[in-house]
Amino acid sequence: MPIAGIYGPDDFADRPQGQTISSSRAVPPARTAQPLPMPSLEWTPEVEQATAPLYERVRHVIPPVEWPLMAPTIRAINELKRARNAVVLAHNYQAPEIFHCVADIGGDSLQLAIEATKVKADIIVQCGVHFMAETSKLLNSDKTVLIPDARAGCSLAASITGADVRLLREKFPGVPVVAYVNTSAEVKAEVDICCTSSNAVQVVESLNAPSVIFLPDRYLASYVASKTDVKIIAWKGACEVHERFTGEELRAFRDADPSVQIIAHPECPPDVLAEADFTGSTAHMINWVRERRPRRLVMITECSMADNVRAELPDVEMLRPCNLCPHMKRITLANILQSLLTLGEEVTIDPVLAERARRSVERMINLRN
Ligand code: SF4
Repeated sequence: MPIAGIYGPDDFADRPQGQTISSSRAVPPARTAQPLPMPSLEWTPEVEQATAPLYERVRHVIPPVEWPLMAPTIRAINELKRARNAVVLAHNYQAPEIFHCVADIGGDSLQLAIEATKVKADIIVQCGVHFMAETSKLLNSDKTVLIPDARAGCSLAASITGADVRLLREKFPGVPVVAYVNTSAEVKAEVDICCTSSNAVQVVESLNAPSVIFLPDRYLASYVASKTDVKIIAWKGACEVHERFTGEELRAFRDADPSVQIIAHPECPPDVLAEADFTGSTAHMINWVRERRPRRLVMITECSMADNVRAELPDVEMLRPCNLCPHMKRITLANILQSLLTLGEEVTIDPVLAERARRSVERMINLRN
């Protein structure tokens, strides 16, 4: 069914102004952290030999001429990880040289945070955006979580605050609230349960309520509403990357080659999803490609994910209407290296707020088990 209502900042005249959108801070390195000296970043025969197995992983997506510019930094990062007892988590939207060459764990934001709980590292370097680093901190409170560029935000997470959730609760008393994981810890602390794009319908139905407030992504809300009888009240947030795709763009691909397969992320607008052969989360899309091995594929999500899949499955030809996430692209090999050298920027969350936010995430995780 269509969504039952959609609300945004303009619908609340008494909405507080100038509030923060994030509960956590990235802070300079602690006084006790010892910065390490910058290692040599020269391209030498030794570096070439040591990084050759890594180049094998990305040779279908990174031209040989670019490798000597990246390999010395990749080698330095991998050595520093051992020296610092650190793990690097990389979201599927990170560039292939990060995802395939320095990450210890790759995946969607929740997979990353959960997998990080299983490793014995002291430090997590989050290659992704700020809300992902917060989620990692929530689930790994005993570890130091670093983000190489604290400015790496997200249009979805920035669309709503904890105060907005409280206003929605006042407007719809007793209606449970579900937050997509693409929200700040401050917002997670105000809701009943979190969800991912993989389990959103399951989470909504688990509440056994006739109506649910689902935030902040209006398009994911509309996708969920199309799959359930629960009345969905939505928020006006959107992912600035996925909302730029259009159904017309997809029809042009299909007209040019009717055999092409199109898969799309549910953060896309409904006219895009109507044209897709399959709709699913980043993890579901990757599994779909691994299982089906289509000859030609249009992957409607952030560009780098298509590169990362192509590095693994070079027989799949990717036709890419390419939308890059500017926030994800703030993370580079250079600032990952810097982060490991200086132990900056550390992500910290107020402990009381963290406890409430963690509960919302853990309720969802317990539902999955
Ligand atoms: S791709 Fe969209 S949802 Fe993901 S971080 Fe970028 S703006 Fe946020």
